[in-house]
Order: sequence, then structure tokens, then C-alpha cells
Amino acid sequence: MRIGIDIGGTKIGFGLLDEEGKALFFEKKETEKEKGYESVLQKIKDSVLNILSVHGLTIRDLKRIGVACAGQVVRADGVIRFSPNLKWRDAPLRDDLESFFSVETIVENDVNAATYGEWKFSFMKIPKNVVGVFLGTGVGGGIIIDKRLYRGSEFSGGEIGHMILNPYGYICNCGARGCFEAFCGGEYIVKRVIDLINEGYRGKIWGLAQRDGKIHVSYIEEAYYLGDEAIKGLWEEVIEYLGCALTSIVNIFNPDLLILGGGVISGTKGLIREAEKIVQNKAMPGSKKGMKIERAKLGDLSAILGAAFLDD
Ligand SMILES: [Zn+2]
Repeated sequence: MRIGIDIGGTKIGFGLLDEEGKALFFEKKETEKEKGYESVLQKIKDSVLNILSVHGLTIRDLKRIGVACAGQVVRADGVIRFSPNLKWRDAPLRDDLESFFSVETIVENDVNAATYGEWKFSFMKIPKNVVGVFLGTGVGGGIIIDKRLYRGSEFSGGEIGHMILNPYGYICNCGARGCFEAFCGGEYIVKRVIDLINEGYRGKIWGLAQRDGKIHVSYIEEAYYLGDEAIKGLWEEVIEYLGCALTSIVNIFNPDLLILGGGVISGTKGLIREAEKIVQNKAMPGSKKGMKIERAKLGDLSAILGAAFLDD
């Protein structure tokens, strides 16, 4: 048995997995990151002990605890060097868990783990060169080169979301202007629509938002297909920038496979194929030859499985 844990800014996911990667149990809890590192650490310890006891297991039944976490994670020593999202610096998460449980523990960046999990379990480790692009609140990337995760010299590589696509574009949370994330991150897209509504815009999107009083990317895409006037330009921009970002990735890495995941992908129907058309149009012939673009298949479990089974 293994336990995989995915620490996000709002929720922590816990999965109990058998050796084939089948999830026997999955739950999400609030991160409550404002309480700080020690409190989150305690929550993780309590949750793992609880999962074991509910399933009639002891710590000896566990082969590994794998943790996925946003930010700069030093794989070698399991320290979270910096997580802007959680506001942690130099958090020794691996050692803290390993000394408590006496079980092998590894800590990996969440998007690296998610890309690895999808590669290993959804695509059977077959493609050699893979780039994972996860469009959630922000945009994260994971890179597998010759079947190995590429982490960079300081474990900060793969920040695909902060590729600058237009130096005059929207301001990004990283402080730069015109990052891929600022164009295609869910939080940013939704904010642009809310700004429109706050300026008094009423269109098809306004009607859709009445369903639950919220703006979701799924509603934005729906409004686009319904012909909403203001959403048309806004969504076309998302498609175009996503397509161009993916084209650049394909030209740089010449991958066998691009895996697209995250809420902006799972919440929309046509976005991935619209972006693919652009890639097919713009990417260099040699770079796109034989390349496939696929949806991530594991949902909340991709990073959990990746961290639990990562073997390099
Ligand atoms: Zn950025």
C-alpha cells in the first residue's frame, strides 16, 4: 500500500493506493494554509493515521508516502524551498514526515508529479518525450525527457505557465506581464469576465451565471458557443494564446505527447481541439510529426499517483 498526498492552496487530497495504483480511498480536506506549516503538517499526520486505522492497516503496511506540493521542491532532500501559494520557505516536509512515520517519504512538485502520474498510469510510460500542461487557477507544467522528469538545476524548471507570450499583456501573479498563465489561467479568465459584468455588461454569460451565481470557465465557453458578443473576443483570445503556447512547446521539445489537464481543460469541451488546430497550423513540420495532444485522465489522482510511484 502507498499513500499519496496532494497539498494545494485550498485543499489537500489524500489517496490510499494499492501497488497497481488503484485508489482504495480518496478524500479532500481544507488546507487552512493561513494556520501555517506546523498546523498543515499536523493535519497530514492525523489524516494518514486516520486513513490507516479506518482501513485496518498499520504503518508497516505502507511502502511509501508520496507528497505533491506546489512550488519549488528540492527532490533530493524533500525540502519545499519556496511555495508562494502556501507561503512556505525551506519547509523540511520529507524529514518531518519520515521521522514521524518511519516510512520512505518523497516530496515532489505537484505538476511534475501530475505529469509523471498521467504518463505512468494513463499512457503506460510508452511516450518518451512528454510535456504536461495543467490549466487550473494558474498554469503549471511538467516535462519528461527520454522518460525522465526534467527538474532544472535548482528544481525550478518546467514553469511553462510563466512563458512570456506578450510583453504588453496582462499582469501575472509572478510579477511579469503577459505570461501564458495570465492569458489562460482559470482565475485570470474568470476575473476578466467578472470585470466585464461589474462594468455593467449583460449578455448570454449573465444568464448562465444565474444558475449558481458564479462564473465558471464552462459557462464562459458555453456563452461563446451561444454567440455572446463580449465573450466571443475574450474566449478567442484564450484559444489563440493557448494554441500559441502549445505551438512553442512543440517547437522546443518535439514531444510525442502533450497532456492537458486542470479545471480549464476538464471544464470545457472544445478548447483543447480549438488549440490543437492552431498547433497543427503553426508548429514546424518536424516538431509536430506524430505528436498527440490528449486530455489528462486521472483527475484529482494524477499528482497523488505520481508522487506515490515516482521512481527517479
Ligand atoms: Zn508569470
